[in-house]
Amino acid sequence: MLNVIIFGAPGCGKGTQSELIISKYRLCHISTGEILREEINRRTELGNEAKKYIERGHLVPDELVVAMLADVLEHRSCEKGYIFDGFPRTLAQGEALDRILKEKNTSVAVTLSLEVDEEVLVERMLKRGEEKGRSDDNRETIYKRLAVYREQTEPLKEYYRKKGKLFTVKGSGSVEDIFERIAELLDHITL
Ligand code: AMP
Repeated sequence: MLNVIIFGAPGCGKGTQSELIISKYRLCHISTGEILREEINRRTELGNEAKKYIERGHLVPDELVVAMLADVLEHRSCEKGYIFDGFPRTLAQGEALDRILKEKNTSVAVTLSLEVDEEVLVERMLKRGEEKGRSDDNRETIYKRLAVYREQTEPLKEYYRKKGKLFTVKGSGSVEDIFERIAELLDHITL
């Protein structure tokens, strides 16, 4: 199975590139941000709880997100593999993902880290806020989310680097150029 983590700061283009990866490699998309937004729209107990954190630019607590992810993986079996978009975001989530995949006799194959300068990230998120109306894409929350990324999520790069699974990709340029860089890497992964 080709299990891919698409990793990077908010606004780095994870969602857009995930869509392209899915259509080329036939993977199943798991975006914890999207699942949480659906839960919020459906006003479920999890959604109401998650909303409080998301609106402030904080991470939703590990135990909630890990339980949600385990449940999704339990009910969605994908032959070719998964693309994890926005998960893991903390070391504890990375360790939980390893445990959950191990139980399914599989593991993370690659972590693709999309590297984008901070000014570009801010610009992209402000534009997305205007175009898609995402309530967490506003100026105060954006800076908070970037700080949370640096403090809680970025250390995961070292976790995957030590395992020899981290691949960095320049996340600037056109969507097509970035995808070409990613495909070049994925085409050469031997499982
Ligand atoms: P995203 O769509 O991936 O940018 O996620 C939007 C928001 O959902 C994040 O800013 C977090 O508040 C929350 N979220 C998404 N995925 C996670 C996760 N793996 N752990 C904690 N919070 C998450």
